[in-house]
Amino acid sequence: MFTLPDLPYDFNALEPYIDARTMEIHHGKHHQAYINNLNKALEKAPALQGKTIEEIVRHLGSAPEEVRTAIRNHGGGHYNHSLFWKVMSPNGEGQPTGVLLEKIDSAFGNFDAFKNSFSNAAITRFGSGWAWLSVDNGGGLVVTSTSNQDTAAMDGLTPILGIDVWEHAYYLLYQNRRPDYVDAFWNVIDWERVSKNLESAS
Ligand code: MN
Repeated sequence: MFTLPDLPYDFNALEPYIDARTMEIHHGKHHQAYINNLNKALEKAPALQGKTIEEIVRHLGSAPEEVRTAIRNHGGGHYNHSLFWKVMSPNGEGQPTGVLLEKIDSAFGNFDAFKNSFSNAAITRFGSGWAWLSVDNGGGLVVTSTSNQDTAAMDGLTPILGIDVWEHAYYLLYQNRRPDYVDAFWNVIDWERVSKNLESAS
C-alpha cells in the first residue's frame, strides 16, 4: 500500500511563487486521492503489490487490463507528484551547476535555451499535463511533455525535473495565467536535487 510522502517543507515555504493554500490542497487532497485510487486498483493486481511506483509506471503492460487505466492515471499521479515536491525548494533561486549544466549546454546550447524549451513545453501542453526534463537512453537530456498523469517514465525516459500544469497546481493564485505560474516556477527549483536525480539516473 502506498502512502502520502511528507512535503519536505511547509505549505507556505514556496510563497510568493506558489501559495500555501494551493500546496495544502494539492498535496493533501489531490496527491492523496491518486494514492487512494492507486491502492484500490492494486487490490485487483496482486502481482504488482510490493513493486516500487517506478517499476509499476514503467511496466504498465503487466497490469491487468481491468485496472490498467486506473493504474496509469493514479500510479502516474503518485509518481509525478512524488517527484514534483522534491524538485522544489524555498531556497531554489540558484542555477544548475556541474555535470547537470554541462549536459544542459550540450543538449540545448545554453541554460536560457533550455529554459525557453522547458517553459514552452509547459505553456503549450493543451489541457492538463506535465512538462519534463529527462535523461534518455544515451544519457543525454531531453524536454518533453505528457498529458493527464502520464509520465516521461512511461516513454522510457528518466524524468529529473517536472512541472505540473494541471489547473489545480496554479489556479487559486494565477487563475488562467499559466505562463505566469511557469515563470514563477524557475524561482523554486531545487537544482541540487535535480543534479542528484541526474546522478541516480546515470
Ligand atoms: Mn497535481
